[in-house]
Amino acid sequence: MENAGNAVRVLLIEDNPLHSKLVEKLLEESKAPDFQVTTVTTLAEGLARIRTREHDIALLDLTLPDSQDFATFLRVRAENPDLPVVIITGTDDLKLAARAVESGAQDFLVKTNLQSGPLIRALRYSIERTRVRDAEWNSPMFRLAQRQFLKAAQLMSLDDNIRQRLLFPQRTLVVSFPFRRDKYTEVETVFGYRVQHVLTMGPTKGGIRYHQDVGLGETSALAMWMTWKCALMHLPFGGAKGGVRIDPTVLTSHELQRLTRRYASEIMTMIGPDKDIPAPDLGTNERVMAWIMDTYSQQMGYAVPEVVTGKPVVLGGSPGRSEATARGLTYVVQRAAANLKIDLTKSTAIVQGFGNVGGNAVKFLAEAGLKIIGASDVSTGIYNPKGLDVNALFAYAKQHKVLKGFAGGEAMSNAELLEQKCDILVPAALQNQITAENADRINCRLLAEGANGPTTLEADEVLNKKGIASLPDILANAGGVTVSYFEWVQDTQNYMWTLDEVNSRLHKQMVDAYERTRTRSERQGVDMRTAAMIEGIERVAAAKLARGLFP
Ligand code: NAD
Repeated sequence: MENAGNAVRVLLIEDNPLHSKLVEKLLEESKAPDFQVTTVTTLAEGLARIRTREHDIALLDLTLPDSQDFATFLRVRAENPDLPVVIITGTDDLKLAARAVESGAQDFLVKTNLQSGPLIRALRYSIERTRVRDAEWNSPMFRLAQRQFLKAAQLMSLDDNIRQRLLFPQRTLVVSFPFRRDKYTEVETVFGYRVQHVLTMGPTKGGIRYHQDVGLGETSALAMWMTWKCALMHLPFGGAKGGVRIDPTVLTSHELQRLTRRYASEIMTMIGPDKDIPAPDLGTNERVMAWIMDTYSQQMGYAVPEVVTGKPVVLGGSPGRSEATARGLTYVVQRAAANLKIDLTKSTAIVQGFGNVGGNAVKFLAEAGLKIIGASDVSTGIYNPKGLDVNALFAYAKQHKVLKGFAGGEAMSNAELLEQKCDILVPAALQNQITAENADRINCRLLAEGANGPTTLEADEVLNKKGIASLPDILANAGGVTVSYFEWVQDTQNYMWTLDEVNSRLHKQMVDAYERTRTRSERQGVDMRTAAMIEGIERVAAAKLARGLFP
């Protein structure tokens, strides 16, 4: 079965057509996630469906034409013990339902007073619980981060003691915490994380992500990449990352504020201006940083602007921080293009993602003279080989919040857009976009990674063979943390710089890191990602050896 995006695939096993229609209708009211419901009316059909392993959750009526009572649940369970099951039951079956829950069913709902809110919530929480039961570390992104590290470690003959030490983060915190929805009686419980990978270099530094896929593995991968990025850029920080597993696009501003303040107080013991300094990432922005700064400051009793970076300028944010990631990316694209003899004023670009990094990349690359022929966000891709009208694109996104419906180009999926021919391709949305599956069809001259982890190791190999030059994430998107560092320096010294000062220092630091990476890549005969990783790892290893081992 085709799974549209992040839709949750529900198997409804219910013989009463009135009840199944009601369930289908109630689930349609969900804003997020989307539910794809497949309905069957007998247990035999249900078991056949479960065997295909195509469903995320089963909604099960215990009284069916071909099976009754507790045996119905046991047979479903025997078919696939890992599939979360929610029982839908009549009021007179409550004892039976309780027995099913005791035996491993995730929840039960009474048919007679079924409402959309509790139904959607029961499904969401059931899936969430199953996920928590799975190993938190078990994530494709963490595996990718570890494999990239192990490859670089091998090529640089890294000291084995240090190699073992760097494979896992030094400190992790997992919290579950509640926040109140706008409907006062509704309280939502969510999972949050803060991970510090290396504490050797100084305070730790890394963004906070709000996304429905956040987990310990993903957060740890991002923290590890932050370590290499900070070291590559010669910043006095170790890597960290944090996040909350929630889709922020369905929250109101008040809900987002309550969630943020509670999350900030839950991780309060981990963060601090000399300990660990958060910043924005996917799904968070300067407003979220302002709330974290305020929550922290309320506890201290005085303003502590330097506890986060990426804040509004009026609270001690740095000029140029919000655009810094895309600006830094543009600086290294310009430098790489000069080396590769690509004339940017005669070149085309496609950018995936239209948020902080992607939107600003479109803006700066267009200002650098490139023709933007493709842009995308979560709603759609837009492609126009003659060039998109960038001003019209921004005006449309401002008015409609998403790109879907923009008339100045052909609508296509994100996957298709990545495969269109262009000179510069910038993935600036999510991880795991260029894989063994599509790498062969990527048709650009230079890949500049705005997002973290957009390319798998298998895809790297294919792209290298095809002769596609690349600017790896820890270099290409390092402008963000570099200006975050400038912001922290300005805040701790109470001395603010001008935008020109920020940009010229950023330019210097980006070009310096690019040249060191390129030189190493040529000298050691390794690809740019491995060269950038070795640059970072070598610095961290040297610092660890210099500090020695306690006790
Ligand atoms: P953002 O939330 O501002 O924007 C994300 C964009 O991606 C949005 O336009 C969203 O619609 C789009 N998107 C979401 N899901 C998508 C999907 N499935 N397909 C296509 N597009 C999708 O986030 P951001 O801060 O721009 O971060 C984007 C990436 O850049 C992340 O990987 C992040 O870790 C990385 N990054 C961000 C910074 C920073 O300073 N913000 C710094 C370094 C790296």
